[in-house]
Amino acid sequence: MKKMNRKQFLSLSGKVMVGSLFLDPVISRLWAKHPTTKTTGDVMIQVKTKRLYLKHTWTIARGSSDYKDNVFVRIEKDGIVGIGEAAPNVRYGENAKLTTQRIHEAESIFRENDFFHYWDIKDALDARITDQSCAKAALDIALMDWVGKAFNAPLYKLFGFDTAKAPLTSYSIGIDTREMIIKKVKEAEPYPILKIKVGTDRDEEIIEAVRSVTDKPIRVDANEGWTSKEEALERIQWLKDKGVEFIEQPMPASMLEETAWLRERSPMPIIADEAVKTAADIPKLAKAYDGINIKLMKSGGMLEALRMIHIAKALGMKIMLGCMIESSVAISAAAHLAPMVDYADLDGNLLISNDPFTGVKVDHGKFVYNDKPGLGVEGEF
Ligand code: MG
Repeated sequence: MKKMNRKQFLSLSGKVMVGSLFLDPVISRLWAKHPTTKTTGDVMIQVKTKRLYLKHTWTIARGSSDYKDNVFVRIEKDGIVGIGEAAPNVRYGENAKLTTQRIHEAESIFRENDFFHYWDIKDALDARITDQSCAKAALDIALMDWVGKAFNAPLYKLFGFDTAKAPLTSYSIGIDTREMIIKKVKEAEPYPILKIKVGTDRDEEIIEAVRSVTDKPIRVDANEGWTSKEEALERIQWLKDKGVEFIEQPMPASMLEETAWLRERSPMPIIADEAVKTAADIPKLAKAYDGINIKLMKSGGMLEALRMIHIAKALGMKIMLGCMIESSVAISAAAHLAPMVDYADLDGNLLISNDPFTGVKVDHGKFVYNDKPGLGVEGEF
């Protein structure tokens, strides 16, 4: 038999791994333990929009929706496939069409770089994609899924995280009529913590409806809905004895000084959501907020989220991991980072009725991780 060069060997052993046709089990096992430090082969990138339907009409202070069009990306190289997801958000000027375009515009980065140098790819993506941060997230998630699979390890293991330390996730109750809120809270019976959306002119009615059926701890998210510091303080004082853990984004992100004023007077912690997207935003928020809500769609993926976790920890801020309406792909990606945070709100996949994937699951608010490599996600792309 003709002697193979290194490149041919790696390419062949990659194919053997995937096809489970073990020409030589010892070589295959070795390959799985010690993946090449240089990726070879061609890169194939596919992009697809899928419509995710919500179980209930989803209403927050900004608006309502019955479905979300999320953009999925599949990256294949050396016989290994990574899957990623973007959840475009109108708050940040994003949509599925522009997101798809940005993903295609970044394809060359994946052809020019070694996948194992994923921090270099992250830097290149940050330079290339300056809007549609969710497009970056989709590519970053797919890349990290690929890397985990290449090392044959779940991402939480690769990062060195103890999954037993992941906090319970809350379950979100969108804005609705009193009757529907009561119905939703009853449906959310298995979840030990609820996140209640407010920021309307009937917030008291919403909280009273929740409290008429449960005494579980709640978190309150105004989504920038309170427009003056006096109004925000009044609402927070009313919420003081209602079993609220913290308030998320009480006022518009731009009202930094007013939020600092509010924080000095607030009896409960204030968490930034719309005010923070990436690590660079965090230092200026340390005076006005007690913590930050990291979302992969805002940060542009898992690597930037890791950077944010370290910076927030260094500044003594609380860290929450949140999500948009997402399938099990992006939710699993975030769940792999959950052992590093104080609060989790990763329920986007629980709110939809046609999740195309399965991955990290939730049982009574607790994440159930599997030991499959990468994201541990399965489903039809
Ligand atoms: Mg929020």
